[in-house]
Amino acid sequence: MTQQHFNEDLCDFLRRSPTPFHAVATMSAELKANGFESLDTADQPLEPGGKYLVERNGSSLAAFIVGTELGPSAGVRMVGAHTDSPCLMVKPQPERSKQGYFQLGVQVYGGALLNPWFDRDLSLAGRVSFEAPDGTLNSALVDFKSAVAIIPSLAIHLDREANSSRSINSQTDIVPVLAQIADGETPDFRTLLRERVLTEHPEYEVKQVLDFEMSFYDCQPASLVGLKEEFLASARLDNLLSCFTGMRALLQADTSCTTLLICNDHEEVGSLSAAGAQGPMLTSILKRLAGDDASYAMLVERSLMISADNAHGVHPNFADRHDENHGPRLNAGAVIKINANQRYATNSETAALYRLLAEREGVPVQSFVVRTDMACGSTIGPITAGGTGVRTLDIGVPTFAMHSIRELAGTADAWNLCKVLSRFYNHRGSLTAD
Ligand code: ZN
Repeated sequence: MTQQHFNEDLCDFLRRSPTPFHAVATMSAELKANGFESLDTADQPLEPGGKYLVERNGSSLAAFIVGTELGPSAGVRMVGAHTDSPCLMVKPQPERSKQGYFQLGVQVYGGALLNPWFDRDLSLAGRVSFEAPDGTLNSALVDFKSAVAIIPSLAIHLDREANSSRSINSQTDIVPVLAQIADGETPDFRTLLRERVLTEHPEYEVKQVLDFEMSFYDCQPASLVGLKEEFLASARLDNLLSCFTGMRALLQADTSCTTLLICNDHEEVGSLSAAGAQGPMLTSILKRLAGDDASYAMLVERSLMISADNAHGVHPNFADRHDENHGPRLNAGAVIKINANQRYATNSETAALYRLLAEREGVPVQSFVVRTDMACGSTIGPITAGGTGVRTLDIGVPTFAMHSIRELAGTADAWNLCKVLSRFYNHRGSLTAD
């Protein structure tokens, strides 16, 4: 595997993962092709050397290997990331017709940067729940793939202040346009979804579509940008880049240590859900791995979680938004995120281990603290640490345009992060400083 191949696979993963549901399906398929098996029943025994997979809501996934030499109570080497990204989600009764145009009303999911959503070729993807003719309830993933919608800008001639003071009303200004319709024509979104399910899944029969979770996404695929192709531009780099990198590292793990990857949904909206990092998913897996209370206490004490979520690189046009000693650059290594007020879970011991692993791998590391006069973001790191008691460190690849419909990363950073995470998964030494 070379950096170029790794990035080609990452671009392919991003293309096939327009929603958290699709990201989990894509990861699940790759993990199963590499020997991981779904853990379906509560009484299925976990074997040393076994590779297992757990899904929640079809949008969160955990994969783990039971160590042959270092069992769970010797400490689990964990990597965490999130599958969701800010986007526009279709409302439950979305149909609108105005001025002869068919539109779908949207909710804003997470802290989306709305400006870049204008004038993009948009498609639709998500999960559809339906009733079959025999009365059973079923769900299927759909992806329209082609450009079926657009949110046109208002011309500057009709808004002379657009470049100095345009603001965006998320209820009225960003309603995507899907078609022109004749007077009296009333397209029905559920009918459209029924046709799509039948096209993509000819094995199903659909009596009626009951409900859906559909979101818009940019059709433009991920691509390499720059005179030396040093940048990777794509939607959803936050945080599918870390999901993919964590998965590839786990696939390179030998089976001697107990290792785990968890990719949770709903990070962008606070993580409190059945499938989110504030839910019981990880704790229930760790308890199952441990077996009994005494082993669980040892597991928690000896484990370590690397929470991987993208960081803010210092932007050449806005360099004053960073502390002058802590401006991470693209292609200069993953960033250790530190916050005295525990918005990040990193401490000196967990950061030290990461620095040691990166040094042994020969890859660079950077550090980030937010300016003390600005608010600090957060991630699943402190939530997981608080929920499980496992020591944690927050790191991430530096990017630009976080939460835009098209974000930017350096082409060397995910590749180098993968090397460090692989070394972590195969690290037989103690995870603590003592
Ligand atoms: Zn994130």
